[in-house]
Amino acid sequence: MPIEVRQVSYAYASGVRALADVSLRIGDGERVAFVGQNGSGKTTLVKQFNGLLRPTSGSVWLGGADIATQRISDLARQVGFAFQNPDDQIFRNSVESEVAFGPFNLGLRGASLQAAVDEALGALELARWRDEHPYTLSYAARKLVCIAGVAAMQTPVLVLDEPTTGQDRLGVERIEHLLAARSERGTTVLVVTHDMAFVARNFDRVIVMSAAQIHADGAPSEVFWRDEVLSGAGLEPPPVVRLSQRLGGPRFWTVSGAASALQPRLPDRTSKSTLSEEAGT
Ligand code: ADP
Repeated sequence: MPIEVRQVSYAYASGVRALADVSLRIGDGERVAFVGQNGSGKTTLVKQFNGLLRPTSGSVWLGGADIATQRISDLARQVGFAFQNPDDQIFRNSVESEVAFGPFNLGLRGASLQAAVDEALGALELARWRDEHPYTLSYAARKLVCIAGVAAMQTPVLVLDEPTTGQDRLGVERIEHLLAARSERGTTVLVVTHDMAFVARNFDRVIVMSAAQIHADGAPSEVFWRDEVLSGAGLEPPPVVRLSQRLGGPRFWTVSGAASALQPRLPDRTSKSTLSEEAGT
């Protein structure tokens, strides 16, 4: 489902101008990460995509239709949104009913509702907690429950606000697994995040925001090499990018990319000759 943002500005009632004339097009099935300092307008921008906030001026188009003409309940079928703070979202008394709430509201019932809930619980490895009260879980687990609840709605666009905050490695892997599975099915996946290594591993497009505007928009292989843009937005690329920059040659921005790029340059540690050479030194 393509998204088009046309010259959108947004000011909160307090007078803070959080978006200043932002234009942007996101194609069907794209994976896009929004990065930038706190307060740069990332959350305000993604909240425009499903009508959680409406532009002060400009317009947002979803699948070719201006969302100003659509009801929130219709937009909820198109764009699923997982809040940054799970406690802004959770209000049911079991993990299972929390995850079922969104798809139930979209009209799913019976076996299809159960299948959507089971799939989301399974993808995030939450099934064993299905009967627990969400508030007995850790912050990180509550966050996964929220993501599962939004994933269970199976919307064509999935927006996650700071999904990896507070997650350990396993939690991040579960989220990555879910995003990869959704991407494969053609879901448009959008995140707001500070986690640049997460961006590098999972996103094809990075949008850098600063002071209510977009300052860079491109592939990690391009954006991570624009030092002045990153430092202007208070960002640091993943450490492996610094290594790539020092080495010159082909660019890499993930550890696995580094391994592939550097493999030809390293001695083959499995060959007998190398082992015997090592043994002789
Ligand atoms: P980010 O997601 O990049 O941290 P936000 O979109 O949350 O940025 O915030 C952009 C600006 O809008 C900031 O100056 C922030 O303080 C302000 N802001 C965010 N939410 C509100 C709100 N509910 N009321 C007033 N100002 C807000």
